Amino acid sequence: MVKNIVERVLNIGIGSFKEYLKEGRSGKGSFTINDSEVEFILNARERILYIGNCEIDILTTSCHYGGFRYWFECPSCGKRAGRLYFTNHGIQCRTCSNLNYRSQQNTKTDCWSYYNMAQKVARQIDKDYKFDSVYPVFPV
Ligand SMILES: [Zn+2]
Repeated sequence: MVKNIVERVLNIGIGSFKEYLKEGRSGKGSFTINDSEVEFILNARERILYIGNCEIDILTTSCHYGGFRYWFECPSCGKRAGRLYFTNHGIQCRTCSNLNYRSQQNTKTDCWSYYNMAQKVARQIDKDYKFDSVYPVFPV
């Protein structure tokens, strides 16, 4: 069974709240999902993010050279996650949402994977490279 890919699912990253958490600034805001406005409230002191009716704890881990790294606590499994996804089952981490990356769905027999890899290499060589047609142009 082919899983849905993360690139197609709305998500929110902890990086959006990092500066507010560092400075201990609480606040609220809103964003739009599928034409409906969702309100969020960040309580920086308690390290809790409220999105709609969902309460998401924010965890920290200490870094080797000092400081903290912030994480969401997945409301479903309780594990750390840097990004949460808005699915039909609610707000969850990638594992709970049963999502994977597009590259994880590539197979050895999938010619489009090789085509995309070739384009990526071509763009590394020439930044302005643009492949206009799938089919090569033969001289008339
Ligand atoms: Zn989870």
